Formats: sequence, structure tokens, C-alpha cells
Amino acid sequence: MSECIFCEIVHGRAPCEKVYEDDLTLAFMDIFPVSPGHVLVIPKRHARDIFEIDAASLAAVSRTSQQLALCIRKALAPDGVMVMQLNGAAAGQTVFHYHTHLIPRAEGSSLALQPRVPGQPGELSALAGRIRLGLE
Ligand code: AMP
Ligand code: ZN
Repeated sequence: MSECIFCEIVHGRAPCEKVYEDDLTLAFMDIFPVSPGHVLVIPKRHARDIFEIDAASLAAVSRTSQQLALCIRKALAPDGVMVMQLNGAAAGQTVFHYHTHLIPRAEGSSLALQPRVPGQPGELSALAGRIRLGLE
């Protein structure tokens, strides 16, 4: 078993609520959402951070992030969508497989990255379903 939870998800050995997948990227619901509709976009090929990721994966993650930000806007109509990407423990990175966070934001909401409570499975899959509609 890989020590990287996101590699486990890519290889189907750990579960996720998948939103989108292509040859180079995978997007799924964050299990500790900052806000309802919080999505993660990752490269399928393991890279620790922005210093390690290959150019093709980086471009693909950017493309998928834009596509799903559009889907989130269409599905959930947030006031804004924050795209966040952390590198190194000192920056707050906790999973060392490159990823972008897509976080729907409401006007006047405070940004609390920690502590967070786990998303309810039914709620995560319902939100994923609404966001996926934008891909059709
Ligand atoms: P970061 O602090 O940028 O490294 O963010 C890692 C994110 O991954 C956090 O928001 C976690 O809630 C999320 N996370 C950790 N494990 C899983 C998992 N198995 N499935 C979905 N999201 C996860
Ligand atoms: Zn990995």
C-alpha cells in the first residue's frame, strides 16, 4: 500500500466522491470541507508539490480547476470561488501530493481552514452530483 492517500485514491484503493477524471487529473470532494462544494483537483502522477510537478500535469490541473470552478459557479452560485494550493508543512500542506482546492465562498464569510468537521457522505455526493451537471 502506498503511503500517499491521494495515490491510493488514484489507483482505486481508497474511496472518494469523484467529480471528474481525465488522463492526467482527478477531482473529488474534500472530506473535511471548508464550505459546501469544496473540491480537490490532483494530478494522477504523484508529485509532492509545485517544485516537483511536471509541466504537463501542472497545465492539466490548471485546466481541470478552471473547468470545475465554472461548474461550481453554475451549480452552487457562490459569491466567489477560491483556488488555493499549498506547498510544504510551513505553508499548511498536510497531504504531500500536489492539489488545488476549489472553495466556494460567501460574501462576508471568514476563512477558517482549521479545525473542520467531516462532510456527511450523503451531502458530499449530492453536492458532487450538482457540480458534475456542469460537465454535461
Ligand atoms: P492541504 O492542507 O492543502 O494539504 O489539504 C489537504 C486536504 O485534503 C484537506 O483539505 C483534507 O481535508 C483533504 N483530505 C485528506 N484526506 C482526504 C481524503 N481521503 N479524501 C478527500 N479529501 C481528503
Ligand atoms: Zn501521491
